[in-house]
Amino acid sequence: MALPRPLARRLRSARTWIALGVLAPLGMLVVSGLMLLDLRQDAWDKAEQTSKNLLQVIERDIARNVEIIDLSLQAVVDNLRVPGLDALSPEMRQLVLFDCAGTARDLGVMLVLDEHGDSVLDAGAVPARRLNNADRDYFQAHKADPNLGLHISKPLFSRLLGTRIVVLSRRIDKPDGSFGGVALASLKLDYFSRLFDQLGLGPEGAINLYLRDGTRIMRHPYEEADIGVNIAGAPTFRRFVGARSGTFVGTSVRDGVERHYAFTKVGDLPLVLNVALSTADIEAGWRAKAFVIGMVVLLLCGLTVFLSLLYGRDLRRRSALQADLARLSRTDALTGLANRRQFEEEFERARTGAGRTARPLSLLIVDADHFKRCNDRYGHAVGDEVLKGLARCLGASVHQPDDLVARIGGEEFAVLLPETDENGATRVAQAIHRAVATLAVPASGLGVGAVTVSVGLAVDAAGEGELGDLYRRADAALYEAKASGRNRTQCASAPANRTRRARVAA
Ligand code: GH3
Ligand code: MG
Ligand code: MG
Repeated sequence: MALPRPLARRLRSARTWIALGVLAPLGMLVVSGLMLLDLRQDAWDKAEQTSKNLLQVIERDIARNVEIIDLSLQAVVDNLRVPGLDALSPEMRQLVLFDCAGTARDLGVMLVLDEHGDSVLDAGAVPARRLNNADRDYFQAHKADPNLGLHISKPLFSRLLGTRIVVLSRRIDKPDGSFGGVALASLKLDYFSRLFDQLGLGPEGAINLYLRDGTRIMRHPYEEADIGVNIAGAPTFRRFVGARSGTFVGTSVRDGVERHYAFTKVGDLPLVLNVALSTADIEAGWRAKAFVIGMVVLLLCGLTVFLSLLYGRDLRRRSALQADLARLSRTDALTGLANRRQFEEEFERARTGAGRTARPLSLLIVDADHFKRCNDRYGHAVGDEVLKGLARCLGASVHQPDDLVARIGGEEFAVLLPETDENGATRVAQAIHRAVATLAVPASGLGVGAVTVSVGLAVDAAGEGELGDLYRRADAALYEAKASGRNRTQCASAPANRTRRARVAA
């Protein structure tokens, strides 16, 4: 199927291909950019979902374990009020007070301290292992505040076990409401580290558990120095306590790493939990993908631009070549003048133009005199030099941009003079005779004056019509010039048989 003409022309234009070669890669870049942004968003959405899921799992585990321990502590506090408890043997008392929570894997000790801080009951030993914890913050806190409820301590070193623990404690009231001591259970920090260690978070990922006052209870990955540090003043922590749960991107005060934080309070406990994924980790996979896709796209774009430029250059060369060929096909090889074909085209155009504008048009036909003789005497090569010289003489005799000098036969030339009347054409003919009179080929002994030309001149003045006659009349005039002695210009008679005939001496 043939393409519509304007489209076919556009497809042949170098400019079209260069424009396409730039626009197509630009489009490709925009589309790839949007695609990469979309992939990046996917990576972030996935990270946020992962963080939230992890957070939920950990929060539930901690809340459930703390609740179980708290229920045991509440049972101790309640059971201490059971009448007749003092009458029981120490072993029976231990059985009544402490349920099987005391045997849980991560539970350190369960104790009852009296109002002086001395251990009086111990889930793990009868009689109770002796110690005094009156100096501990939680003891002082319960003593000072009857309504403290469940208290969770900062991370401590257990005096009985020597390991890191947090202490969960409840106040014991005497029947009169005064401070009667503390029931406590210690939870080993191993519990948190084991819980957190199960989760893979990437090289820079972290899980943190804080007390609401900003004290860090546990961090994954574990480092001894992190435990017990208070970050209450850090901007990230202020956001943790600003809402029940949420997500944000912030920079860690601990290591300066930018992370995506998902945080939540743990049940109704004074605990804050967060899962933090480093933004670099979140985007690592995407970055690798983006790098490969980006490289491929850039390569393809570069290739497209390169090929389009190459193709454009080729088209340009081809059209330049075509223009050259077209020019050559209308040029005479020996003299560089317009050839017969170009003369005929221009003659046709000039005739139409003159008919339209009613302006005069003159034509000179110039023929070398006795050229055969010249050839015979000096040789064909010299004849060629003379022809080139004649071409120069003719070229130098016309001055208007639209004037055309053509070689229309062996030693025959035509000079087309648009918008030129008989006077102007006669002046050009005279200039031609003068120029030819100076022509010589000294190296071959052909001197000045050896070459002459005869000129047939015909004019078509405005409105006189019969333009088709112009060439024939000029040719006839040339014949007359030859017949009447050569080296002269003969003006053709006007068309409508007006018999004005002029002879212009050379
Ligand atoms: P006249 O004055 O009547 O015009 O005589 P003439 O000899 O010029 O005319 P004629 O037509 O008899 O001869 C023209 C000669 O021009 C014949 C040919 O050898 C020569 N000629 C034609 N083309 C070329 C050319 O390209 N180079 C050379 N050197 N000679 C050419
Ligand atoms: Mg001749
Ligand atoms: Mg001739």
